[in-house]
Amino acid sequence: MLIDSHCHLDFSCFDHDRVEVLNHCRKLAIETIVIPGTQASQWHKQIDLCHLYPQLKFALGLHPYFLNSFESLHLVELSQLLNQYQDKVLAVGEIGLDSHIDVDWKLQLQIFEQQLLIAEEHRLPVILHHRNSHNELIRTLKAKKFTQGGIVHAFSGSVQQAKTYIDLGFKIGVGGGITYSRASKTRRTIAQLPIDCLVLETDAPDMPLMGKQGQRNSPEYLPEIFESLWSLRNETKQQLLQACSHNVRVSLANL
Ligand SMILES: [Zn+2]
Repeated sequence: MLIDSHCHLDFSCFDHDRVEVLNHCRKLAIETIVIPGTQASQWHKQIDLCHLYPQLKFALGLHPYFLNSFESLHLVELSQLLNQYQDKVLAVGEIGLDSHIDVDWKLQLQIFEQQLLIAEEHRLPVILHHRNSHNELIRTLKAKKFTQGGIVHAFSGSVQQAKTYIDLGFKIGVGGGITYSRASKTRRTIAQLPIDCLVLETDAPDMPLMGKQGQRNSPEYLPEIFESLWSLRNETKQQLLQACSHNVRVSLANL
């Protein structure tokens, strides 16, 4: 059984065929799909979808992309929802830092730190977003003495960076990026990491696989990412499959 540890199935581009996508996923043995939070206005839609479809599980958080519409009330609401759904919510996320977007860096850092604090208070792991920001993310996790771990989503980087996250209690999210032969550095890194840190994800509708550029990405393509990962590794398919699902279960709450 496969678990997609990161998929934005709440986005409106899935509104017209979400049921079909989920039915197809079931046939492909994708048992669980984790929907990370992005902005306060989506949280109730995520929660409602997870009530409706037991395959779906949610995390709640403020993604750096959407911080231009941030209001301080959102952090209060986040804490309230984490209390209300303490037996259902998987993590605080997706949260992090992104140096490629037009959102004030100080604001990103401030909201990231506040959400780390909230996660620590609720004893919840976090789902981390990075883009050209590993050093700052690692520095902040250490400075805040964050102890709950979680998943570094769509990891790309060096073995050293991955190992630093692993030492901080994190699993490493493996997505469609590894299907690209030009991603040789990340492919080499993923090939060398211990099996007990690897988790699979699609990040759908974003991050299309090689050969599917320009198309909506979908959790239905998770088996292809798995095949690509397996081709880089020495384990049997069964060992790798079991490990990837087990690793998600131990890194997130309520799974
Ligand atoms: Zn995402």
